[in-house]
Amino acid sequence: MRVFENHESEVRGYIRSFPTIFKTAKGAILTDESGDEFIDFFAGAGTLNYGHNNEHISKAVIEYLQNDGIVHGLDMATTAKKEFIQTFQNSILKPRNLEYVMQFTGPTGTNAVETALKLARMVKKRSNIVSFSNGFHGLTQGSLAVTGNNDYRDESYISRTNVSFMPYDGYLGDMNTLEYFRKFLSDSSSGLDLPAAVIVETIQGEGGINVASKAWLQELESLCHEYDMLLIIDDIQVGNGRTGEFFSFEFAGIKPDIVTLSKSIGGGLPMAMILFKPELDQWNPGEHTGTFRGNNLAFVAARVAMEQYWSSDDLTNAVKYKENILRKRLEEIAQKHPEYEIEVRGRGLAYGFEIKNDASIAGEVSAKAFENKLVIETAGSENQVVKFLPPLLIDEETLNEGINRFEKALEAVFVEKKERLTQEY
Ligand SMILES: *Cc1c(COP(=O)(O)O)cnc(C)c1O
Repeated sequence: MRVFENHESEVRGYIRSFPTIFKTAKGAILTDESGDEFIDFFAGAGTLNYGHNNEHISKAVIEYLQNDGIVHGLDMATTAKKEFIQTFQNSILKPRNLEYVMQFTGPTGTNAVETALKLARMVKKRSNIVSFSNGFHGLTQGSLAVTGNNDYRDESYISRTNVSFMPYDGYLGDMNTLEYFRKFLSDSSSGLDLPAAVIVETIQGEGGINVASKAWLQELESLCHEYDMLLIIDDIQVGNGRTGEFFSFEFAGIKPDIVTLSKSIGGGLPMAMILFKPELDQWNPGEHTGTFRGNNLAFVAARVAMEQYWSSDDLTNAVKYKENILRKRLEEIAQKHPEYEIEVRGRGLAYGFEIKNDASIAGEVSAKAFENKLVIETAGSENQVVKFLPPLLIDEETLNEGINRFEKALEAVFVEKKERLTQEY
């Protein structure tokens, strides 16, 4: 750890939550330098949906390198890119009746978000964008402006104009927050500039696994049509099968104008892209460039992931099966502790366990879980939610063992809390 403390910036983050040196990983298991094995319920914040070092992906990538396949090609035509485009078109877009143009951006999520915002503003010739409370869209300037969390926003003295925030589904209790949004749109004196687009996550990953309902998403789509605003779904964290279906919005039957994808799309390698309706394709050639828009290794990995996991419903069914196990067990654990007002919520294999009357518990549980050899993160505005994001391919036994470790950590934290309380009196 000294090496990192002495030479790496204070900006270090996850290394502090999970203080060991990881050396190898396979599937849902991370192994550190001393040979200790950890169950991974974090999965690179949703980057490792297909697991660490997925055997099919690794094999294809190794073969590609051994055969001197193109690794870097700017956005020139390559075999790897051609095959990815064909596979994505045939196994993802076509079966879902989605007609989208693909644009490859710089390799991280925030690059895709920046591109989506730029395209929306360019096409609509308007500068305002509407984002939602607790939304997270990345940390470069444009993406940060549509991110809600003050922890990230405060230290960046950028101009945050041209963005308006609206309450996400559930933010105001039972109130339909879209009625509030609608009022702002319909009243010419509300102060809201008609936005070029609305950007939203169907489940807010960093925001605490806040789940938008089907009805809310459908109404949001109608509102966008009514007021000529583009609907951007940021599917970076909860797309790629996280909710069972490939896209997290499929269950609502909506067709966003623009979709951002990153995290798991490259099978664990850096890759990001946006999808958009053909009529929005108003770019001039080379107008939005970037040196690493074509990570060909990621194209190979992504194609193999599509071929392997998205040519049948098997993965979708497996996610739903494992979701039932996860939800049932978390609800049982929550019911044992009515005094803590626990809420369990999620969809697919993205679940949140929020301890409502004591925001500090989630962080302590994450730390204790790490001692129990479970890697699990927190989310939410006060990090008050324990976030379950296991690889989608996790086997049932490992899933259950991970939940056991979580439960043990939670019980230990509850006992410590009670001891502290009795000592105070
Ligand atoms: C992680 C994430 C991003 C940003 O991706 P980076 O690769 O960290 O830039 C954007 N939107 C959502 C929903 C995310 O979860």
